[in-house]
Amino acid sequence: MDNNIAENSKNDLQKIVIIGGVAAGPKITAKLLRSNFACQIDLYTEEDMISYSSCGLPYFIEGLIEDPQRLIVRRPEQFEEKGAKIHLNKRCTKIIPEEKKVLIQDTKSGIIKEVFYDKLAITTGARPIIPPIENVHLKNIFTLRKLQDGINIKNKIKEKETKKAVIIGGGYIGIEILEAFYKNDLEVFMIEQNPHILPIFDPEISDMIKESIVDISNGKVHIITDDSVVSFEGKDKVERVITSKGQIIDTDLVVIAVGVIPNSEIAKDAGIELGFKNAIRVNNRMQTNIKDIYAAGDCIENFHLVSKNYCWIPLGSSANKEGRCAAINISGQYDAFPGVLGSAVTRYDGLTMSLTGLTETDAKKYGFEVITSTMTKKDKAGYMPDAENITIKLVVDKRLRKILGAQAFGSGDADKRVNTVASAIMADQTIDEFLHLDMTYAPPFSTAVDPLLSAALVINNQIFKS
Ligand SMILES: Cc1cc2nc3c(=O)[nH]c(=O)nc-3n(C[C@H](O)[C@H](O)[C@H](O)COP(=O)(O)OP(=O)(O)OC[C@H]3O[C@@H](n4cnc5c(N)ncnc54)[C@H](O)[C@@H]3O)c2cc1C
Repeated sequence: MDNNIAENSKNDLQKIVIIGGVAAGPKITAKLLRSNFACQIDLYTEEDMISYSSCGLPYFIEGLIEDPQRLIVRRPEQFEEKGAKIHLNKRCTKIIPEEKKVLIQDTKSGIIKEVFYDKLAITTGARPIIPPIENVHLKNIFTLRKLQDGINIKNKIKEKETKKAVIIGGGYIGIEILEAFYKNDLEVFMIEQNPHILPIFDPEISDMIKESIVDISNGKVHIITDDSVVSFEGKDKVERVITSKGQIIDTDLVVIAVGVIPNSEIAKDAGIELGFKNAIRVNNRMQTNIKDIYAAGDCIENFHLVSKNYCWIPLGSSANKEGRCAAINISGQYDAFPGVLGSAVTRYDGLTMSLTGLTETDAKKYGFEVITSTMTKKDKAGYMPDAENITIKLVVDKRLRKILGAQAFGSGDADKRVNTVASAIMADQTIDEFLHLDMTYAPPFSTAVDPLLSAALVINNQIFKS
């Protein structure tokens, strides 16, 4: 370590140190720069780029976006012009709250420096889980999280000899990669160890989605559930995948997409309290249990607004809201982030899948008296040439009559319906209030009674009957 070198000298400005630079960190920086708060911001990231859209990576791999630079939201220079200092290739190795300092290591030279802060924001995000599969370090086995991961995968699929791929994990990132590979004309095997893909949906909805994906994929996509990969084979690069049920699948590349874990180790070592799945526990102002240390984004635990329990739902949408909230509180103002519904959406070749709140499975786990209705209807007037099917499942508590969640999928506008339900849940509406919602209607956009309201009416009738 450089002997007692304090990178930032004492002056009147509040010293704000931010660790991590993809979504939450840059959001805090941008919001602070827009405020009147007199501060010096230093953002440290172990990467060589900041502020990019990981969410856009599947579409870059697919080829919808040619240049990866287009995924960059703001460049370091854009922050520096406004007075923030962006330190690339710098990893925070330790937080020492008693002395209000962090240790920052240059990832190239290895040199460690001390950096003092008045307020610290931890936005270290999450990283992919790499299961202990035999030969997992063979070439052409990838994960997808960072910009460079996307570039590496795209380079591989662009090679002429790349014809077959295996995706391990059937979560939403797995589905987005599946779409990208399918659209690049690869034959793809998705292997999911659970009985259903997309476990964030109820099983019967996941199964309908799986069937639809396979149906529209012209025999190029194979989804294997209830089986797991036990080893990879190949000389120096992966050539085969072996499953626990003895299937042998030839492949040119593998993407492991089995989930992520929070980067919370440096916080834990500093005595910061962790919560669900070892994500950092914060209050609704994004404050950790240690004074003047805030956290936001994928590294923090969430509070679920329906179950009223802690959970961990790492999403870019939340990371941005949490970052904004952290910045407001860091600057001495007041803001409170209430929690999340876990609203999410993804797609596969024209099929949209979306959900908010609790599924039936989760609602039952949390002790709600659940009533549901599932219906498939046209998303627009049936006579319109572009009318498409949409399946909606509404989950309601029978006793309280409160809407708990919704899942929707289909070629039609599924997310529009789910977002409507998200608003209703946030407004704590009962099903009786909800079915009077004055939704828009014209034949090219909806049906006279929107499919969502039809689902609500069915539930209402069931409640009255029982
Ligand atoms: C392929 C893909 C698709 C996605 N699609 C969606 C989507 O459609 N919708 C959605 O809402 N979300 C989506 N997400 C999730 C979204 O990208 C994340 O929620 C978001 O990036 C979280 O931002 P973050 O800043 O909290 O953390 P991260 O994005 O994880 O960034 C954390 C940064 O901190 C750095 N870091 C970690 N530890 C240290 C350290 N000790 N010192 C210095 N730097 C450190 C990391 O290297 C990283 O650069 C997707 C994610 C992926 C991978």
